[in-house]
Amino acid sequence: MAYTVTVLYDGYSRMEDGRMRANCTCTLVKGPITAIVDTMTAWDRDKILSGLEKNNISCDDIQYAVGTHGHSDHLGNLNLFTKAKHIVGYTVSYQDEFFIHPFETGEPYTLDDSLQIVPTPGHTTADVSVIVKTSDLGTVVIAGDLFEHENDIEDPSLWKFVAGSEKPDEQEKHRNQMLILADYIVPGHGPMFKVTPNMKKNARETAESKVT
Ligand SMILES: [Zn+2]
Repeated sequence: MAYTVTVLYDGYSRMEDGRMRANCTCTLVKGPITAIVDTMTAWDRDKILSGLEKNNISCDDIQYAVGTHGHSDHLGNLNLFTKAKHIVGYTVSYQDEFFIHPFETGEPYTLDDSLQIVPTPGHTTADVSVIVKTSDLGTVVIAGDLFEHENDIEDPSLWKFVAGSEKPDEQEKHRNQMLILADYIVPGHGPMFKVTPNMKKNARETAESKVT
């Protein structure tokens, strides 16, 4: 199935004059199902509307609005998407109806052959990632704060301490799983990056060393 992933807005996180400034990366998934992942802060409504307009998508076209975890910089504009099912961390809802899905047991929420939402806890205890098999980039994982930024692969203190991790061991396990399966990763607070053979090799070696 023909999916594409378009980053509408590159997130960031940085210290500026002793203050933490951060906003999330916001991503559009287009194909048989249309979805938006991480809707920035409540002050970013116009950025999202113009990003969608450039891609000829209206808010009402969005069928799934995903917040990868329950932090305010990832959830600010869910209310633009009132035709969509909302998935926030492990919670799936539409209006006042809540759908039980056992993310806790590792069960993926499968939308079709090419689009899945999987539990990848660690940054918080209920993070999800969106896995998209695309027509142009191979497998893209929209990972939220499982990855803060491409640089956190070289410098783990970025995800462990700057972004913060509620369960570092779990997060490391899921980071390695996603590095092994992804061609590209959209991190929570930076541009999409390509997963290099070296990143995959290190992820495999670390994953194996944890098993034995
Ligand atoms: Zn974040």
